[in-house]
Amino acid sequence: MRSTEKDNYLYNNGLSLYAHIPFCVVKCGYCDFNSFSGVEEELQATVIQAMLRELELRGKNLQPRTVFLGGGTPTHLSPTLLQTFLLGLRERVDLSQVEEYSCEANPESASSEKLAILREHGVRRLSLGVQSFNEDRLRFLDRAHGVEEAIAAFERARQTGFDSLSLDLIFGIPGQALEQWQDELQQALLLKPDHISCSHLTFESGTQLHVDLAKGRVQEIPEEQGRSMLIETRQQLAEAGLTAYEISNFSRSGMECRHNIHYWQAGSYLGIGPGASSHRRGIRQSNLRPIPSYLNALQDQACPVATAETLSPEHRCREAMWLGLRLTQGVELARITTLTGADPSELFADLIPGMVAEGQVVQEAGWIRIPEAAIPLADRITAQFL
Ligand code: SF4
Repeated sequence: MRSTEKDNYLYNNGLSLYAHIPFCVVKCGYCDFNSFSGVEEELQATVIQAMLRELELRGKNLQPRTVFLGGGTPTHLSPTLLQTFLLGLRERVDLSQVEEYSCEANPESASSEKLAILREHGVRRLSLGVQSFNEDRLRFLDRAHGVEEAIAAFERARQTGFDSLSLDLIFGIPGQALEQWQDELQQALLLKPDHISCSHLTFESGTQLHVDLAKGRVQEIPEEQGRSMLIETRQQLAEAGLTAYEISNFSRSGMECRHNIHYWQAGSYLGIGPGASSHRRGIRQSNLRPIPSYLNALQDQACPVATAETLSPEHRCREAMWLGLRLTQGVELARITTLTGADPSELFADLIPGMVAEGQVVQEAGWIRIPEAAIPLADRITAQFL
């Protein structure tokens, strides 16, 4: 998939909107997102109102091309709060130019009522956090749902009439054999999703899983096995018509997640909600993460920004290469120059020829990409540009 004119517009001019709803029914042991369990509905309502205030402060004249509601778990909100937020968003932001409106959901809270509310308010793409089709592994991940519940939620979403349904899956779980992962992929395919995201389980600092690893209670799977699982994923999903457009994202033709492509293409976006980050033409900001600090700032009508930095052209260029090479199509060097003001051909003149010689990247017609054979080493390859 090469860039289309629409992509170019999004890349050069368009802005995406991300809303971070930071509530979950349980805090999964592997999760390092800014998400909280056990938050009373009254406090959730206060946060939702604060997020709408943040939109008023920061989203003036916004005409996003993509909108993504993530978290946390947006569907953890009660139907009333979900409705309040979606309506409030529509009242504050001009959604007339939106080409893709996505929402994340978890099986235990994706009720028919909430799914219908999402559709009513224009959400057309749903990403369901299934993570595994095995009860033991779901328990290991602390997920709040079972396999049957996940399948039922997917069927409900299909019946609700979303244009595009995606499944999120995790592989590389301690004790998981390659064959077991292959079985899980087959189960996922039986549901005929339009899109699948598969991430390798990571042990992020600050998580319970990281503590368990440090104390020797769990062990990471061997690196080689993780690579085999990724190779297998790419082959199995390609055979089923879900093409890899990014290292671990797969879709039917035309069903790629435009919002995430925009991130990988180093586009500008506004993120609202506790801990959300934003990036507008080289200025990066991140919001206050603790809910009380976030609320306090907005009570005073102040932007809830915790950090802000202006990235140099070189910094932007490095990041644009690092992110863009995750895409199957790779990066167009001239585009990076236009976007960042730094020319990657000059900046990486000592790096790229060696990488080409070693087969880490392919360079042709002004583009650079990682060839399929080198994809299992993609993290190491892209890190060289930082
Ligand atoms: S449901 Fe998602 S966001 Fe919430 S704790 Fe689990 S992994 Fe994190």
